[in-house]
Amino acid sequence: MRRRNPLSSSKDPHVEMIETARIVKKVYEDLSTNPPERNCTLQTECCRFQITGKTPMLTKGEAVVAAKALRAAGRTKLPERADGACPLLHPYTSRCMVYAGRPFGCRTHFCEAAGGPYERKEVIAHIRILEEVDERLGGDGPRALQPAIRDALAELF
Ligand code: SF4
Repeated sequence: MRRRNPLSSSKDPHVEMIETARIVKKVYEDLSTNPPERNCTLQTECCRFQITGKTPMLTKGEAVVAAKALRAAGRTKLPERADGACPLLHPYTSRCMVYAGRPFGCRTHFCEAAGGPYERKEVIAHIRILEEVDERLGGDGPRALQPAIRDALAELF
């Protein structure tokens, strides 16, 4: 069942999306300094879900930020990928199409080359904020990247 914070129910959904996207971006910005950012060297191994067996789970605010970044890159739909890799991994350049707006899990992930995953206690304050944003937007908690971004794209104005 969809959650909705009654405090925000009277707000214009467009305004709400803009405000919450700002909060999510601030979380990403804070994460770049506290705790120290992992050293992502764009190896993109973690983007190949068929190899890692793991798919990032996104709260609704993260999905909105990634969807906006994808739209800004000129895409209105989530690209298809037949090989099981992240649909946001560009098939020719092998670069993330939404790197600046990539989800939290892509920043705190399991990539050993980047320094390994954060411990939950290191990032719990960030997670709490993302959960609050999810609730504010009427989200259902973390969802797999593909459906989360597909739905966020459909909701964008
Ligand atoms: S969103 Fe970007 S960084 Fe995250 S898994 Fe997909 S391609 Fe990789």
